[in-house]
Amino acid sequence: MNNYLSQKYFIFMIPCNHPRYESLMLRSRIEEGVKNGIVHPTGLIAHGRGEAFDYLIGEKTQKFAENAIKAGVAYLKIAENPVISVNGNTAILSAEEIVKLAEKIKAKIEVNLFHRSEKRIKKIISFLEEKGGKNILGIEGDARIKGLSHDRAICSYDGIYSGDVILVPLEDGDRCEALKKMGKVVITVDLNPLSRTARNADVTIVDNVVRAMPALIKQFEKIKNPEEIIKKWNNEKNLQIALDFICSRLRKFYRNYNLNLL
Ligand code: ATP
Repeated sequence: MNNYLSQKYFIFMIPCNHPRYESLMLRSRIEEGVKNGIVHPTGLIAHGRGEAFDYLIGEKTQKFAENAIKAGVAYLKIAENPVISVNGNTAILSAEEIVKLAEKIKAKIEVNLFHRSEKRIKKIISFLEEKGGKNILGIEGDARIKGLSHDRAICSYDGIYSGDVILVPLEDGDRCEALKKMGKVVITVDLNPLSRTARNADVTIVDNVVRAMPALIKQFEKIKNPEEIIKKWNNEKNLQIALDFICSRLRKFYRNYNLNLL
């Protein structure tokens, strides 16, 4: 069965009024991404971890994410050389929005993979080009992120290496830390407020990338006072708000669950 048919088949199997329709459709996209070589098989596991946290935040863009989105946009607005770093999961879930956001903020797009292979980089670049992306970096791999060993250090000199503000959705903790040590401002989208990436970034948007990317685009026109937003921004405090929100939701679930048993 080719990709198109298997996708259709899945749509047929999942009625759109299924309570988990959107989540199942995202799973299906990731699954297709693995089949066509855009997503690394471990991307399935990363997606699953994300899903669990999305469940806990109510599968909605919460206030703490809205505030982080505004802070992220503020940093991107004052950036001199912004770069959007794209991996397989981000590409398959948000290619169109990545291209649109890059156009708006005049950012470079770099395909940068933890499990690097030329074949997969080329596939992701073509996929982004199909959505209108231009001059996408990544294949040259002519620089290294300092302090990291192996292929996961490879990056593009004109992209991540020389960029000042890097938007890295769904990043690995080690690489986020290394980018920080290189003096970059790091903005991430990560559903897990406890991950090392979330804790190391300058701005952590605790939200699903499929909701965060369109929200970043929308906010771009609205933010007129980036310096003021940045001055007030406290990522640690915002992560604490996200964690408190999850805890209070869990407490409510527990109470309701007990009531249902009575
Ligand atoms: P770290 O190394 O930062 O401690 P990790 O080992 O969990 O974290 P990875 O598996 O490399 O990191 O990255 C996946 C991260 O992306 C996870 O924290 C996961 O919650 C998050 N994630 C997965 N899918 C999404 C998504 N659709 N939107 C936002 N975040 C997501």
